[in-house]
Amino acid sequence: MLHIGCHLSASKGYLAMGRDALKIHADTFQFFTRNPRGGKAKEIKESDVAAFLQLAEEHCFTNILAHAPYTMNACSADAGLRGFSREMMADDLRRMEYLPGNFYNFHPGSHVGQGMDTGIALITEQLNAVMTPEQRTTILLETMAGKGSEVGGRFEELRRIIDGVYLPEKIGVCLDTCHVYDAGYDIVNHLDDVLDEFDHVIGLDRLKAIHLNDSMNPMGSHKDRHAKIGEGSLGLEAICRIINHPKLQHLFFILETPHDTLDGYGREIALLRECYQEG
Ligand code: FE
Ligand code: FE
Ligand code: ZN
Repeated sequence: MLHIGCHLSASKGYLAMGRDALKIHADTFQFFTRNPRGGKAKEIKESDVAAFLQLAEEHCFTNILAHAPYTMNACSADAGLRGFSREMMADDLRRMEYLPGNFYNFHPGSHVGQGMDTGIALITEQLNAVMTPEQRTTILLETMAGKGSEVGGRFEELRRIIDGVYLPEKIGVCLDTCHVYDAGYDIVNHLDDVLDEFDHVIGLDRLKAIHLNDSMNPMGSHKDRHAKIGEGSLGLEAICRIINHPKLQHLFFILETPHDTLDGYGREIALLRECYQEG
């Protein structure tokens, strides 16, 4: 069974997202915890959450994925911005407790010239400040394209963050196919090798979710521009090998491809379901 969904707008609440997912034969989705550019989060309506959880159970949804705002930078050079980032993540994790047992994905950050070591230390510090032993959410570090001073373009960088947190059992990784390809990992011609490397450096047991995107740019470009499935440098064949790979088949896949309408995602999901081999 292919677990797949796409990024949805959270503006109308959880039940509305669940219904949108059903319309396109998805059994999961991703949403921003607040405006992607940051700011105050909308209040959670418990009746909305309860209605969503019931819908999700009736329709056998798998886990869902929350995405932190892009403005969150745990390793900013500005202490005020780091404080803001920390507050946002702490608040997001509190709100995630309404949906226990799910995943919260964030971009590790950009060290803005302070260097990779400082970046990794600051990210680890933020995680240690906001995580609690009671939390039921697994925090996912997203693999990044290595654009500018981004942390997380190399598996080793993510490993160092995981090594620095005091609750490593609550940390996982979300692999973004566009990002890793842009970062220089050849998932088109050497998928097995890349997965072996991931396993060796981080451990495949940490891999909890996949952002399934094609890329507008060639391998190693460090650009991070998503393309529609089959319309980029990865191509449909490589993407079908990814969703069918025995080491990945059990995960859930979230499309972050550029579509203005739900139908666009629906067509991609139908296409991917067609190339998925039940195993
Ligand atoms: Fe992301
Ligand atoms: Fe992503
Ligand atoms: Zn991206």
